[in-house]
Amino acid sequence: MRTIGQPLRDQARRTLTTVVEGRDSYYDSAEHRAWSREVLRRAAGMCASCGAQDRRLVADHRVEIRDGGSRADPGNGQALCSPCHGRKTAAERARRHAMVKIRGKRPEAGV
Ligand SMILES: [Zn+2]
Repeated sequence: MRTIGQPLRDQARRTLTTVVEGRDSYYDSAEHRAWSREVLRRAAGMCASCGAQDRRLVADHRVEIRDGGSRADPGNGQALCSPCHGRKTAAERARRHAMVKIRGKRPEAGV
């Protein structure tokens, strides 16, 4: 019974590492640059969240790749200004962190 929690925690750690490595190489790729250009072109200079038109925009995946969103489809992209992108990223990180914590606790709760 005591060994059940450990493999699950190791598995979660491996998954996180894989995701981070995959993200790093993808964000450097020509594929991502082309996607990003297309998303920004469609946005025509306007932040999809707050509507600001005078800010530098970044292409953001509406549904993050690690959450199953398409990374090549411009339809899964939106242009966000830096403050909006920062808010979304922080919210996603908080949500993901909460999920990892819940997953980590589940095996112990069953013991
Ligand atoms: Zn904005």
